[in-house]
Amino acid sequence: MVPQLYDLFKFGGGTAKDDERGIKRMLQYFPDFFTEEQLRNNMQHYNLSRMFELVKQYFEKEYGYKVDDITLSNRYQNTINSYIYDDKENPAFIHIDELFESTVISFLLVMFKWSKDFDNLDVYSECFRYTLFLMNEVCIFGNMQGQYANDVLLHLVTGDVQILQLAEDCYWTIVVFSLAHEVVHAYLANIGKHYSEKHPEKEEFDADMIAYHIVLKIMMENSGENKVLEEYTYLAPMMYMDFFDLYYYTDRVLYKSWFYDPKHPLPIERKNRLFAVVDKDEYELDTVEGNHLYGGFLDVYDEYKDQLLLKMERGKLNKIIHMDKRKMMRGAQE
Ligand SMILES: [Zn+2]
Repeated sequence: MVPQLYDLFKFGGGTAKDDERGIKRMLQYFPDFFTEEQLRNNMQHYNLSRMFELVKQYFEKEYGYKVDDITLSNRYQNTINSYIYDDKENPAFIHIDELFESTVISFLLVMFKWSKDFDNLDVYSECFRYTLFLMNEVCIFGNMQGQYANDVLLHLVTGDVQILQLAEDCYWTIVVFSLAHEVVHAYLANIGKHYSEKHPEKEEFDADMIAYHIVLKIMMENSGENKVLEEYTYLAPMMYMDFFDLYYYTDRVLYKSWFYDPKHPLPIERKNRLFAVVDKDEYELDTVEGNHLYGGFLDVYDEYKDQLLLKMERGKLNKIIHMDKRKMMRGAQE
């Protein structure tokens, strides 16, 4: 399989998907590994709408729920979160932001690279800085990575096809999980399931658990030529929760902002529910490789947290803190 990373090659502001430019940069940074034709074929094989079709097919198969009136929206709206818009009158749509795509793939690349070359001091410090940049500028302030940032990242992983492959495989599992999560909201409304106002977070847990079931089924039932999601990526939805956890953690350390949303439980709670799903006997996955990957990921996840706090306490992050901007944002939210 050949990585398809057009999401990496998007440039700030508005809709900026540029496949042609993406292919050129891919060939520039990985000249010995891919041909232009391979990259083009792969783009046709792996893309958002194809994943959405697959998710729909599985909702019908697993839950007898036919999704025929939900469309996809994918423009840049400055949000890391995906959501479903369903006012029961207009056609419903699921929004997966361009910012989500480019940020998640970059996050995975940098975390895996960090984990792999942990003892290389240059890689270590570059990876820490890049993760911090993603959390601070991109997640907290919603700024799309510019070309310069993209160059830094690509330079960091240049020639390392293994990292590219790991990141991309996990990325698609997360995409399917997110799409399925949003479809669950429509499904729950469709079957008339109600949640008490006291516990709105229960709907989120249910959405995660059903979405994860769909992901694991797709993983287990499509192998060989039909393979879409790699089995070893089965813990990628956990990494996605950890991604949000690092985002909120960074906000807390840099700006003393506390994530609070009664509807959306904390990432750590969501992650625990996901583990409860995958531990069931009905899922038979070969997990050694996947556990190893996640173990390495968690090591750098902890490392990032420690370093962030340490550097903050030593006053080394003063230059990158935009306290006024953050206060203004909070003011607008309240
Ligand atoms: Zn939700």
